[in-house]
Amino acid sequence: MKNIGEYMIITVNKNIKSEEFLDLEHIINNKGLFLKEIDSEHFLVTGDTYKFDEQSILVLPGVLGVTRIKPTYHLVSRDVKMQDTIINIGNVKIGDGSLSFMCGPCSVNSEEEILRIAKGVKESGANILRGGAYKPRTSPYFFQGLGEEALKYLKEAGEKYNLPVVSEIVDSKDLDLYLKYVDIIQVGARNMQNYELLKKLGGTKKPILLKRGPSATIEELLMSAEYILKAGNPNVILCERGIRTFEKLERYTLDLSSVVILKKITHLPVIVDPSHAVGNYNFVSQMALAAIACGADGLMIEVHDHPVESVSDAFQSYKLSKLKSLIEKGKEIKEIINK
Ligand code: PEP
Ligand code: MN
Repeated sequence: MKNIGEYMIITVNKNIKSEEFLDLEHIINNKGLFLKEIDSEHFLVTGDTYKFDEQSILVLPGVLGVTRIKPTYHLVSRDVKMQDTIINIGNVKIGDGSLSFMCGPCSVNSEEEILRIAKGVKESGANILRGGAYKPRTSPYFFQGLGEEALKYLKEAGEKYNLPVVSEIVDSKDLDLYLKYVDIIQVGARNMQNYELLKKLGGTKKPILLKRGPSATIEELLMSAEYILKAGNPNVILCERGIRTFEKLERYTLDLSSVVILKKITHLPVIVDPSHAVGNYNFVSQMALAAIACGADGLMIEVHDHPVESVSDAFQSYKLSKLKSLIEKGKEIKEIINK
């Protein structure tokens, strides 16, 4: 039998005596395995753990338990890292207990428009600017985005209003452009399982916003995130954006249960996009506030100062003039649930 990538986590008593710990280390090392501290109570064991008999250490005083980790995903799991991952983007922190608001138009349609919207986004209290450049559209006849031109305008607007920017990559051939122009690279729902793209993004250190595919399970989302971490990039933010169900009055069904479950099993930050989920500007604010109540680390909201002029996703564009009050309410909810 070969090692199929299984790991073990040993939980020890936080008051374990040093001689007890040395005994534990001795047994592990004698079996050709490696022990690595996760925190003072948890240790990761790597190597050919499949042939290791955990009874040999469970009998030691100070050892509380042994968990075997399945190879499907573990780097993203709290089994391996208990503390929340905090993503630092300049002065903005995601996952540190604060709330992030990534707001902006569905697509960047002109320089003038993105500068105008960025100003409103900043004044409303949002801290990250979004805008699509290469748009993954359902029909090839729909607007496909302005490409590199859009990335340039987005960066210009972000710099002018001191907002980090996020935009979706659809093809790894554009990676150098994204490394140059954006602060967070978004992987859209349609590309969540584009594993070659995920591996390439894992080869960078750029923060990656990974959206859940409309038909992906929570574990499939975690396995996709695992690809990025395994390739060396720990800076991943997960995004719930609705899943496909039988319901026709919603664009997708916003699965808020996933937020509470994800927060429990992964240390990665979790944000929610109510815009693409509910797909209707009338219901965006309610779902946004509900997401905060569920413990989301932030929101992605499509906003426009004149939604009818929005070239893509106009019907779900939230009015920019209402964003400030939504953000204020959201922060109040966060305060209550943090208590
Ligand atoms: C987007 O955020 O612009 C987008 C296309 O979202 P999703 O990938 O969730 O459909
Ligand atoms: Mn959109």
